[in-house]
Amino acid sequence: MSRIYLSPPHMSEDERRLLLDAFDSNWIAPLGPHVDGFERELGAYVGMPYAAALSSGTAALHLGLMLVGVRPGDVVMCSTFTFAATANAIRYVGAEPVFVDSADETWCLDPNLLARAIASERAAGRRVAAVLSVDLYGLMPDYDAIEAVCAEADLPLVEDAAEALGTRRDDGRAAGSFGACAAFSFNGNKIITTSGGGMLVSRDADLVQRTRYLATQARDPVPHYQHQAIGYNYRLSNLLAAVGRGQLMHLDEKVTTRRAIRDRYGRAFAGLPGFRLMPEPTGLRSNAWLTCIEIDPDVAGVDREAVRLHLEADGIESRPLWKPMHQQPVFEGCRAYVDGVSDRLFERGLCLPSGSSLTEDDQQRVLARVLDTPGLRRTP
Ligand SMILES: *Cc1c(COP(=O)(O)O)cnc(C)c1O
Repeated sequence: MSRIYLSPPHMSEDERRLLLDAFDSNWIAPLGPHVDGFERELGAYVGMPYAAALSSGTAALHLGLMLVGVRPGDVVMCSTFTFAATANAIRYVGAEPVFVDSADETWCLDPNLLARAIASERAAGRRVAAVLSVDLYGLMPDYDAIEAVCAEADLPLVEDAAEALGTRRDDGRAAGSFGACAAFSFNGNKIITTSGGGMLVSRDADLVQRTRYLATQARDPVPHYQHQAIGYNYRLSNLLAAVGRGQLMHLDEKVTTRRAIRDRYGRAFAGLPGFRLMPEPTGLRSNAWLTCIEIDPDVAGVDREAVRLHLEADGIESRPLWKPMHQQPVFEGCRAYVDGVSDRLFERGLCLPSGSSLTEDDQQRVLARVLDTPGLRRTP
């Protein structure tokens, strides 16, 4: 039996054709027409007028934080329930991450806790400079409330939409359209991939112009090499942008497929005591990047690790949910405003194989394995 992966790359003839086109045109470097095309097409998909293609989502977060004005010594309020790249970017600009927990209904940043955390940081005399909010597993926080908190506190919002390309609210607003700027990732296991890559999107033409400038070593527009700022080598290759354009052509299909996968898991687990599927708040259409479940061991008869190891023994990859940043050794000593939601999700949560190339047979194999985990209760 072949191994089943969590979220492997899923390519079509279009990616191959566009990659060969880029190669044959000799636009191997620097940049090139596929970079411009990818920026235009991704911006249009998300509904944002400006976009800069970068070497990673992490690079987009780094430059985004710099360009909304975060300076060394500042505090940035950050979702604790996320991948380390989010919080690392705060360190890259010399600022201090202060972590805030998730709301149970969204798994993303809790606006009430955020407001209290900002007030408390300010009361202690700290210079809060921005809010960095993460769209986890294709979900989004209540952005109406988050935007209101940011406006009230007069703070710029940066959206880490690395996991949420293709997520949309019923009112038409897409993940990546909130805040001063947003970051996407095209790393290997994301819903679309260029092998590695990222994008910064914004409504602010000047911010995106400055992103491109900083991402190409901050060169002055003169014939010789002259610099007035420290720059970075963060642009996306034209070859990879060609792959990204092909992937983008199939994004809507991928969202549809991943949602169908999530719904099949949901139906299979609906009657199982102690199993809970990830939420999808009303008004939100998630891209269902990864299907996540929460297992209450006291009710289910098994815990998350038992299920994960049982799947692994059959060559099926699954993974615990993100370990919150306030529990990470590297961020030990950082302040955190937490109330147990992300701790509980980390302890009980599991991501299941969700790739858009997962066949129904393979998903049946995953489901059968989960259901025959020794000790699992089938009835209450
Ligand atoms: C993947 C990811 C990133 C980093 O993106 P890269 O392209 O791998 O640098 C940042 N934040 C979150 C939430 C992610 O899942």
